Amino acid sequence: MFFFFIGSVEQQVRQVLKKGSGRCISCGSLADLVEYDKALKLFFVPVWKWAGKEPLMHCNNCDIFFPKSLSPPPPPPCFFRRCNFCSRDVQAEYKFCPFCGSAL
Ligand SMILES: [Zn+2]
Ligand SMILES: [Zn+2]
Repeated sequence: MFFFFIGSVEQQVRQVLKKGSGRCISCGSLADLVEYDKALKLFFVPVWKWAGKEPLMHCNNCDIFFPKSLSPPPPPPCFFRRCNFCSRDVQAEYKFCPFCGSAL
């Protein structure tokens, strides 16, 4: 398991294909369909970069990637509103932002 201590593969957004085309499997807010690059890092230095095959969903709030097949369908536009304080998408029925705690 030594490999995991010296090297890691990270995914990075290359290009947003479709904004808000699904929902995050973790926090439920809007997620983007993105093309991504994989970067191999050794000792935290990127040494190799290559393009990912399939577009993935990416959540800006959680900074996670997941397959489009796992993503719930996008909600109607009125379902979300943007928090004025942290600019994250919050479900419209919430009274308080779950991310920064400010009143909506
Ligand atoms: Zn999320
Ligand atoms: Zn907020």
